[in-house]
Amino acid sequence: MPASPCIFCKIAHGEIPARTVYRDDEVVAFHDVSPQAPVHILVIPVRHIVGMSALGPDDTGLAGRLVQVANEVAREAGIVANGFRLVVNDGADGGQSVPHLHFHVLGGRQLGWPPG
Ligand code: 5GP
Ligand code: ZN
Repeated sequence: MPASPCIFCKIAHGEIPARTVYRDDEVVAFHDVSPQAPVHILVIPVRHIVGMSALGPDDTGLAGRLVQVANEVAREAGIVANGFRLVVNDGADGGQSVPHLHFHVLGGRQLGWPPG
């Protein structure tokens, strides 16, 4: 089988480097290469899933794990007390640029609202 061209699959399988902060068989978390806040961590499923809207009825356990790991890495990064944001961009209008599901964990500064 040819290697996946997906950059987040490559990170999930350790084929390209990332500043990984969490890893298990299902979920990997790593620092965003272009951070938009003092803490900007991406939480992804190891399995290639194009985006949040591609999650199926059998994926509720995985979706829960992604949220749980997002909370864990936020706690480890020390941003829970002051507050943080969990963002999932989905599709073109949602601003998704990498077509492999990822949760952004953002914090460490006052974040603006509404989003652009
Ligand atoms: P999106 O725009 O799809 O919601 O978010 C994609 C995120 O992935 C962006 O914040 C971007 O900076 C990050 N990103 C893209 N390529 C890489 C990479 O090779 N390594 C890491 N660590 N982050 C990446
Ligand atoms: Zn992928």
